[in-house]
Amino acid sequence: NYRARSAFKLLELDQKYNFIKPGSVFIDCGAAPGGWSQVVSRKVLPEFDTTTEEIKDFETKLNGNLIIAVDLLTIEPIPGVNVIQGDFTHISTQQKVKELLKEREADVILSDMAPNFSGQRFIDHVKSMELCEFSLNFAERVLKSGGTFLCKFLMGESDHEFRNNLKTKFDIVRHEKPQAVRKKSTEGYFMCLGYKKNK
Ligand code: SAM
Repeated sequence: NYRARSAFKLLELDQKYNFIKPGSVFIDCGAAPGGWSQVVSRKVLPEFDTTTEEIKDFETKLNGNLIIAVDLLTIEPIPGVNVIQGDFTHISTQQKVKELLKEREADVILSDMAPNFSGQRFIDHVKSMELCEFSLNFAERVLKSGGTFLCKFLMGESDHEFRNNLKTKFDIVRHEKPQAVRKKSTEGYFMCLGYKKNK
């Protein structure tokens, strides 16, 4: 039982690529209602009970895991997950994430951010690519060498350009459409592995 169906997309991608590993730093952008963060938390912190009562002294039990979830909307507490409410495209929000990182670099950056659907395919595509650019930009500042970047996008005219850009920065870039994504949806994911820092 997950808060959002989208959890199954992440589970599917992790089964294929196995990038959710214990002892890592995860940043989940566009995390509400929290399905993806639940997937991460349950995998790397299995000893955490899913009830919030159990997490009072979790600092000591985190075992090096750091999970940060960011969204415009509120997110109900998830064991072991730090929630930041704010617009990820704002520097002030990204600054809050950096403060939580305390000099650590991220192992995994996830973005399931999507714009409010206007119903006009081209406009939604352009807005979605803008969100992708923001998350990649942020990734370039905090992702560690060899790190993973997963980013949702709405297919359209300019996704190729973004993909080519990703290819210069990661060893592996795959266009994925998990089965949990509705057939007719124009939604896709860029699964990027092996960040080439300083390139
Ligand atoms: N992965 C989530 C889950 O499993 O629960 C579902 C994410 S939902 C498809 C997309 C989210 O992106 C929405 O909650 C929306 O508020 C968020 N979002 C869109 N633009 C954003 C922005 N600029 N900053 C932060 N969150 C944003």
